[in-house]
Amino acid sequence: MANCGAGHTALMVAERSIIWFRRDLRVHDHPALAHAGREGREVVPVFVLDPALVRPSGAPRLAFMYRSLRALDASLGGRLVVRHGDPAAVIPRLASEAEADEVVVTRDYAPYGRARDTAVASALAHAGVQFAGKGTPYAVAPGTVVKADGTPYAVFTPFSRAWRDVGWPQPLIDTVDNVALHRVRGLTDDGIPDDPSIDCELPPATEPAAHEQWESFVADGLDHYASRRNEPGVAGTSRISPYLRWGQVHPRQLLSDLGDSRSHDTFRTEIAWREFYADVLFHQPDTARRNLQHKLDSMELDDDAEAGARFVAWAEGRTGYPIVDAGMRQLLATGWMHNRVRMITASFLVKDLHLPWQWGARHFMRHLVDGDLASNQHGWQWTAGTGTDAAPYFRVFNPISQGRKFDPDGDYVRRWAGDAEAAVDVHEPRDPIVDHAVERAEALRRYQQATGR
Ligand code: FAD
Repeated sequence: MANCGAGHTALMVAERSIIWFRRDLRVHDHPALAHAGREGREVVPVFVLDPALVRPSGAPRLAFMYRSLRALDASLGGRLVVRHGDPAAVIPRLASEAEADEVVVTRDYAPYGRARDTAVASALAHAGVQFAGKGTPYAVAPGTVVKADGTPYAVFTPFSRAWRDVGWPQPLIDTVDNVALHRVRGLTDDGIPDDPSIDCELPPATEPAAHEQWESFVADGLDHYASRRNEPGVAGTSRISPYLRWGQVHPRQLLSDLGDSRSHDTFRTEIAWREFYADVLFHQPDTARRNLQHKLDSMELDDDAEAGARFVAWAEGRTGYPIVDAGMRQLLATGWMHNRVRMITASFLVKDLHLPWQWGARHFMRHLVDGDLASNQHGWQWTAGTGTDAAPYFRVFNPISQGRKFDPDGDYVRRWAGDAEAAVDVHEPRDPIVDHAVERAEALRRYQQATGR
């Protein structure tokens, strides 16, 4: 690693970049770092702890982020500068203190990130500092895949075909070793906060751990992915989502390891879902909060005190439906939940408890270490029947038969909903807070009332 000393000349000042890390917490295959290395620019690496993003995060999410930042700092030779505050004020101040003429980022496509970056770019422009985006968190940047008439895709399958046709580059081979990391004399650093106290076990939050996780999945899981990915009781999925969320790996790195077999292709399709939802949110930012399908806006939902109590029972894993409770407890204990169980628990909140999907989405975003606005809100909207390619509203997941089908030996339920151990049939409800058959009929009644169908 080429580290410059503290002194600098007027000539060097003109060639200094701030690299502002956000959801790209890695040093390999990083377009902004590679750009600085190739241009021979000095780099001041920065992370801003923005209260707007820290405040809604639960303790496991924050702990994973702080650990990721510590690992990034170590990879950057201890040069990472951390500041608290609104980036629109913090970044221009830092650029001035560091005498940088350029701030480089990996582009952000989510609604808050775009508005924030517009504000930062305009504040920097006033000070004569350039704001540049290099690279994205996606294989194909949101907004790129469009139909022949230039409009965005609203349905997944044609999107995913066109997405494959657009294609993606190979990972960059540039490393941080070619980058002149600079420590500016007198530049204060607020430091990375201590982890909040957490009562759960998180995966290691480092770039090498992300690659180890991926390599072990490629060795032992990828070839069986198509047949095992729906069973929460077996280690059938990659568990790569937290690393994709925080950028310790880039999707193009995963895609470059895939071949043509059925399982490899299924995995590629799952990556395409992540890219599709980012694209949908990019084109329709208000779908982070509102139904994509407005025809369901008039649906009757419960939001009184009893609804609040049901929500708490759901969030704490006390519904009496074993697979729902197991999922909610896995979330609290590990900051992660299996995809099949995300669908089952989400369906239960919307169709058995008749609560707004936004309540569940907020709870997931607080607790998931992979919490990602596009995948989460659209995963919820898909389940609620209000989103893209919506699972028809009238297709109501039965938590008992879903449990029997996807957790046939009951291993998952036994592991996470421990009180199920005594039961003969672990998927049989015990003291359920609602009767699924009754609530299914009620959900359909409300659907018919809202849509006239
Ligand atoms: P794998 O099965 O190994 O898949 C590999 C990768 O493909 C995942 O890491 C993810 O990036 C992508 N992927 C897989 N399935 C989906 C999907 N349905 N939608 C979008 N991307 C997908 N995923 C998140 O990353 N963050 C979220 O906040 C999130 N919230 C969700 C909420 C609900 C209600 C639902 C139904 C799904 C949500 N998902 C979310 C999608 C999915 O559940 C997770 O990506 C997956 O469980 C992560 O585990 P994995 O890495 O082992 O997945």
